[in-house]
Amino acid sequence: MKRRRLTPEGKAKVRAARLRRLRPGLVEDTMAGLAAMYGHPTWQRVHDPMSELVLTILSQNTADVNAEKAFDALRRRWPSAPGSSTARINRPGWGGAGIGGGPAPDWAAVESVPVAELVDVIRPGGLAPQKAPRIQAALRTVRESRGDYSLEFLGDLPALEALGWLTAIDGVGRKTASVVLLFAFGAPLMPVDRHVERVSKRIGLVPEAVDVDAAHELFLALLEPDQMHEAHVNLITHGRQTCHAQRPACGSCLLAPRCRYVDSRAP
Ligand code: SF4
Repeated sequence: MKRRRLTPEGKAKVRAARLRRLRPGLVEDTMAGLAAMYGHPTWQRVHDPMSELVLTILSQNTADVNAEKAFDALRRRWPSAPGSSTARINRPGWGGAGIGGGPAPDWAAVESVPVAELVDVIRPGGLAPQKAPRIQAALRTVRESRGDYSLEFLGDLPALEALGWLTAIDGVGRKTASVVLLFAFGAPLMPVDRHVERVSKRIGLVPEAVDVDAAHELFLALLEPDQMHEAHVNLITHGRQTCHAQRPACGSCLLAPRCRYVDSRAP
């Protein structure tokens, strides 16, 4: 008899069940160890969802601090009416210095300027020739389907439906969409960036061979919805402060007793 192929969600459930069977309590111990080191970060909205989307596109493959410079340059060049944005402070898990207060850019202007002009303005963010058309395409898609540039409606959709809506936009991948939904709405999604991927694979929460999309599915199967924000922020913080790409500080890490990087047979 022909075996039915599992969906990505089905595969994630099988992997999660196997991990719970072979390494019971690993998720709970990891969450507790991270919380002991970095506390319990609480979710609060920092940016409106469109600002979050553009900022996240600007941060692709570059340091967050450069994305901030590019975002600030957008606001200076095409300011919108005062009071039209909530962008003002840093958010947990973000690696930059935080964005100063002020209105969001005028998205209609950003969408309609010649792309070469936009490339010039966002150049401090790096990879401007790729990101400028991506930002304009995202703005155009939202305006054409919604009539304006607001993404607030996504907060009324189930998380995976909202994820599907955003990832249908050219240049918006699962990680970018998950960042927007997690941070703008507190949606139970797990953006898997390089820190989250590295740390979770070293511990053994995620198998080495699993790609980032499958890792995202696996986290949805491993964690409770209300654990997602804390897990994401603390895994990133751990990757930045302790579990460095080169020479992780395992001697001061509370996760070491259960980490497969330290001991390939760790329980
Ligand atoms: S023990 Fe070392 S490798 Fe494992 S999570 Fe901690 S810092 Fe990273």
